[in-house]
Amino acid sequence: MTPRDARYPFLAAAREAVTETGVDLGTLVATDEPAVDRGRERVERALLAGRVDSETSDEWRVEDELLSYPIARILVSLLDSPAAVEKYAAAEAKTAIERLKDDLEAAGSELRSTPDANLDRETLIAELGLDGAITPEADTPQPAAAPEWFWIEVGTYLDLATGLGDDWRLVNRELSDGQVRVDREELFRLLRAAIRRRVAEGLPFEGLDEDEGIAAELEAELTDLRRLLSERPAVGEIDFVARELFPPCIENLLQKAEEGVELEAVEGFTLMAFLTGIGMDADEIVAFCRESSLDPDGIRYQIEYLQADRGTQYPPPSCETLSTYGICHNEDDHWKVAGHPLAYYQHQLETTDQNLVDWREQAAVDSGK
Ligand code: SF4
Repeated sequence: MTPRDARYPFLAAAREAVTETGVDLGTLVATDEPAVDRGRERVERALLAGRVDSETSDEWRVEDELLSYPIARILVSLLDSPAAVEKYAAAEAKTAIERLKDDLEAAGSELRSTPDANLDRETLIAELGLDGAITPEADTPQPAAAPEWFWIEVGTYLDLATGLGDDWRLVNRELSDGQVRVDREELFRLLRAAIRRRVAEGLPFEGLDEDEGIAAELEAELTDLRRLLSERPAVGEIDFVARELFPPCIENLLQKAEEGVELEAVEGFTLMAFLTGIGMDADEIVAFCRESSLDPDGIRYQIEYLQADRGTQYPPPSCETLSTYGICHNEDDHWKVAGHPLAYYQHQLETTDQNLVDWREQAAVDSGK
């Protein structure tokens, strides 16, 4: 088992490493080993933040990290939600590509490169079964470690680029001799699609009975994950932005971000889910959070991730859940008013006697639109 197995757990070598540990996953779960906790974190991070790396990476041994992958796959299967599987696979792929970029950068700097932890592009391409379908451009002088241009077989290109948007349509690409020209960043995007597909293969697992065996042992972890994702308050559609009426939990998160502090995954998820829940779109949220630690790309990515099954949005967690995460302090006894930040905000809107202007209207006036 090498650190690379733990960093790229979807590779064949990592699967073999799991087998070689001789660890029985049922026993691992029954004895509540650290890998189980890390597996839960893996899924939680995937669903809330769109990535799977740990917020406390120093806490985990290589073995915990490696074994957390099969545990996470069982957990996400038990969530019984196609959107959760899709988000999980996309988050694994996103994290893997970020790691690959780091590794390629390290390859150019011998001081940082760690052979048994790092991966190279060729190995990944071969692992994904894309050997021979992707080649660096030979005609352009380019550094071997970081070629800028690649040619990819048109069939493979069409397969991987499906759903990526108009820019990826063949009519908008340079095509020659049955191959499509892509730059380095575009290749990363296509590899991400291939990894996402690899991770999603075989998910959700069939035949897991929630009341038996390993699934039953994971009940506490599942309850935690479901609580985070399925607490839909009974509120009608809200479409009004008045920061002065936001509940303290949300105002505190906004202020924290505006002080330049990085929000934790559950904090960022809560804030974005609240802002989308009151009717804001991605552009409005980016403008609203302009002076904060939240970067526009991260905001857009997270909002995309808030899409749950059947096109609905994930709401923020309930007051009770936010209190367990230390985000709610039940200021002014809010729980007596409503059990959910969106319900609380709706109540505030309905009972206020202030003459309020929607922030979006004011922003349009200020910008002269
Ligand atoms: S009680 Fe609910 S709405 Fe009020 S601060 Fe806590 S989480 Fe927010």
